[in-house]
Amino acid sequence: MEHATHEHPYIGCTIKELPEELQHAAASRAIELNPANAPAGHTPGEALPGRLVLLTGKRWPPAGKRLTVDFLDGVAADLRTRILFHMNAWGSWCNVRFTWSTDHPQVRITRAPGGGYWSNLGTDILHVDASKPTMNLDSFSMTTRDSEFYRVVRHETGHTLGFPHEHLRKEIIDRIDTAKAITYFQRTQGWSRDKVISNVLTPLNQSALVETQQPDPLSIMCYALPGSIMKDGVGVPGGTDIDQNDAQFAGEVYPGATWPTSIWPNGKAYFFKGGQYIRYDARADKADPGYPAPIAGHWPGFPPEYEAGVDALVVWNLNQAYFFKGAQYIRYSIQFDRVDHDFPRTIAGNWPGLFPDGIDAGVVWPSGKAYFFRGAQYIRYDIANDKADPGYPKPIAGNWPGFPPSFQNHIDSAVVWNNTKAYFFSGDQYIRYDITADATDAGYPAPIAANWSGLFASDIDA
Ligand SMILES: [Zn+2]
Repeated sequence: MEHATHEHPYIGCTIKELPEELQHAAASRAIELNPANAPAGHTPGEALPGRLVLLTGKRWPPAGKRLTVDFLDGVAADLRTRILFHMNAWGSWCNVRFTWSTDHPQVRITRAPGGGYWSNLGTDILHVDASKPTMNLDSFSMTTRDSEFYRVVRHETGHTLGFPHEHLRKEIIDRIDTAKAITYFQRTQGWSRDKVISNVLTPLNQSALVETQQPDPLSIMCYALPGSIMKDGVGVPGGTDIDQNDAQFAGEVYPGATWPTSIWPNGKAYFFKGGQYIRYDARADKADPGYPAPIAGHWPGFPPEYEAGVDALVVWNLNQAYFFKGAQYIRYSIQFDRVDHDFPRTIAGNWPGLFPDGIDAGVVWPSGKAYFFRGAQYIRYDIANDKADPGYPKPIAGNWPGFPPSFQNHIDSAVVWNNTKAYFFSGDQYIRYDITADATDAGYPAPIAANWSGLFASDIDA
């Protein structure tokens, strides 16, 4: 990232602190909301000593959080949608959701030019005057580079969720050359010496703020630090997106994802071929040991014909998955880990407008639509209205940008991995699809065998 400081204005981030007179009340309230915010040395039930105020965490309750968002300096609908999309990226991994509302919005965003990138930390936003912003996204517009939406919006949203800066881990700060860092940030950010010290050179106390076991230089909450200010000359790359450690940590702080993905609440995806299945660990990015295993005996309530193999698996939401086979389907309760009563049923009569049989693949998209594939055609299904959209089926060819010819003729399986990326499998190959850009990523198709450790190498059924 060092080049970025020369070619583009790379703007650092500061966590906005509350006015000093509000800090004690805010810290006490944070501990009330989530006792895990209490710093070491604080006795539960007793008043918070002043010396511990700055060491108090600012996380929301572990049950998760719904936060309303508005834009104080106005915003066009397209930019608003795009910013909220990136804020909600966290919901692929943890129980948080941001929705736009003009009625007493809790997260208040401005885009003041020259104001820098900043956010208040977690529950501190409850104490910010209702007329004032809690986040600034300096000059963000629809022409801002897409990578900046990933890097900045997701980072600032992490602060709103109560996550501090990963680069303030002692292990990283110990590697920074203090004098060089002060000069560097004074020059590139216009920060005072004191501001550099507080933003970059003061380690997180080993208290309520501590995150994962090891510092993660690729965390979305980590700055990019150039090699030129490091004692060992090795730069810290800094995060460009929510990475696996961030995802895991967020899921531990606020368990339960809010966006539909093909990953089950236990963090696993399931793939089927013939009478076998594989449990794939999404975060470790490999199949769990001991797989493939037979379907028979492992999926309570599966009728015998489903134990012999399935056509398609669609994870519908956090509680339900559908398995399709021939002209029928079964609904599986994720919560109770068994097939629901009164299944199988026929597709015809229960899924208005859907292919009546022979479904190859299906997947739920973050937009609230599901896509079903059969041969060279697909159908878009509206989940809220519980019926296929008008005008379907349509040919895959011409409607899925970047699909190779073989994928235009047949999809074996499709999964949404988070609200950004989906994967499609056909034969012994797969492609990665960018949901935001609505296009296949460059560099695909690629062989399954070389990239999905432990997965069926070809002809996945579901
Ligand atoms: Zn920051």
